[in-house]
Amino acid sequence: MAQIIDGKALAAQVLERTAKDVADMIAGGGVAPGLAVILVGNDPASEVYVGRKIAQCRKAGILSLEHRLPADTPQADVLALIDQFNADPAVHGILVQLPLPKHINAALVLDRIDPAKDVDGFHPVNVGRLSTGTGGLVPCTPLGVMLLLDSVIDDYRGLNVVVIGKSNIVGKPVSMLLLEREATVTVTHIETRDLPDVARKADIIVAAAGAPHLVRGYWVKPGAVVIDVGINRVTDHDGKTRLIGDCATHELDHAKAVTPVPGGVGPMTIACLLSNTVLAAKRSSPDFQ
Ligand code: NAD
Repeated sequence: MAQIIDGKALAAQVLERTAKDVADMIAGGGVAPGLAVILVGNDPASEVYVGRKIAQCRKAGILSLEHRLPADTPQADVLALIDQFNADPAVHGILVQLPLPKHINAALVLDRIDPAKDVDGFHPVNVGRLSTGTGGLVPCTPLGVMLLLDSVIDDYRGLNVVVIGKSNIVGKPVSMLLLEREATVTVTHIETRDLPDVARKADIIVAAAGAPHLVRGYWVKPGAVVIDVGINRVTDHDGKTRLIGDCATHELDHAKAVTPVPGGVGPMTIACLLSNTVLAAKRSSPDFQ
């Protein structure tokens, strides 16, 4: 039977550590870390994500400054708000909830964020730092994936990793983090040939395709670790919707360890957003070494 890696429990530990860091910062005479969250429009899923992020910030003692803007907000106004947060010393992290409405150029908006406050790690400066292994802020989901993997793997050197999906927010950054640990990383995508054969060689599979139950039991070699990043909403025969991952976890008894969906990567993403905010706040302090 494969070990189920409990993302909720691990996320609770990260949140506890983060709350302690915040308390220590304040006890040491510092200010509470501040996270500005910008939500443009009223996409229901984005509303839920932003609500969760803000609730967790409060629990950890992080100040959250929430800015909900109407869907027709001009791009220039969003950029001006980012400029304002970039200049505000009480704001240590800036998060623009994606997706943005179509009339707003997301790349332009993300590029406007001060890289030192870019707690999502999407700014080209942070992307460059990640790929050169020179620090910076790392995107939250890949960071969460690494913490989940660290709970079952001590040494990545020489391990074969297959990453399924090459997006800028998951596939590419997680590949960079695994390369830094000296794993042999194969990044795959929709055009990859014989993906089941490629996957079968992996000691670790990170599935981030957004394709329900793509990874079947016969894709996974015995003893492999499988991290399921996918979140797919499916409707059952009885009309009820539920979330499933990219991996047919019920076929993975022969794996060493797997993450569930929900309750695996998802909770880690928010926990890592908070820890990134605290990191950004610490780095902004003159005492930071
Ligand atoms: P994306 O759509 O930007 O990229 C998907 C990638 O997967 C692409 O590179 C594509 O080529 C590849 N792909 C798609 N179908 C494939 C297939 N059948 N075979 C091989 N490769 C395939 O997606 P994303 O933003 O990286 O998200 C991926 C999944 O992860 C989604 O389900 C998303 O909801 C989920 N996600 C979860 C979290 C979390 O916090 N748990 C965070 C981000 C994304």
